[in-house]
Amino acid sequence: MASSIFTLKKEIVEICRRIYERGYVAANDGNVSARMDNGHFLMTPTGMSKGFLLPSDLVVVDAEGNKVSGTRKASSEAKMHLTIYKTRPDVNAVVHAHPPTATGFAVAGIPLTKCVLPEVVVSVGAIPIAEYATPGTQELADVMVKYLKTYDAVLLENHGAITIGDSVTNAHYKMETIEHFAKIMFVAHQLGNVQSLKGEAVSQLIDLRKKFGIRPDAPVCESDECRIPTAATSQNELTDVSPELVEQITRQVINKLK
Ligand SMILES: [Zn+2]
Repeated sequence: MASSIFTLKKEIVEICRRIYERGYVAANDGNVSARMDNGHFLMTPTGMSKGFLLPSDLVVVDAEGNKVSGTRKASSEAKMHLTIYKTRPDVNAVVHAHPPTATGFAVAGIPLTKCVLPEVVVSVGAIPIAEYATPGTQELADVMVKYLKTYDAVLLENHGAITIGDSVTNAHYKMETIEHFAKIMFVAHQLGNVQSLKGEAVSQLIDLRKKFGIRPDAPVCESDECRIPTAATSQNELTDVSPELVEQITRQVINKLK
């Protein structure tokens, strides 16, 4: 990471403030961390509201979770964050929050794994539900690794959500995207119909992921309706969304994420 520790601390504090103000956490919930250039990690402290943190409240820990500097105690979920960093060397930030609509899907047992919105397919991909484990335990860290070695965003059963990214802002944008997606899916469910993107449109979005270097191998949807067509499948039955529209929307997403 190119950012200095001061810039990184300011970014974490700002993102925590946004998470709190958007209602993605209550009381002292949630935690955010970032990988530093020297192999250490910045963590939010335990037992403090994310809405009112100061840069000096952040704690520096090593890869084993030992405190290197800071006056506070690191988040109780530090173990989970560090296990994710070990598994995904491409990841520089982890955000954990309880956004109410996405968490509602996690409580209802409904994963966000259908290809419905082009922005979500390109910038986040499929969002499965990881099985419940007690917060703060190695068991939760192990469950997370199982999912996050493949996915960039996961709902936690009866708990909340985790997003990862190459920067704190990028991981936060993914959290915003899944909560926004969950709200739209909730409305569509209430209206009585969820129309998935068809295979050819999904295939074009995956091409865009490749073009912009966004983990082209990551799963983007896990529903039969949006199955990617084989060579033997007719093109005509699969073009609900024009490639131009898909490309235009996706470019906007990519620009936002840069
Ligand atoms: Zn939590």
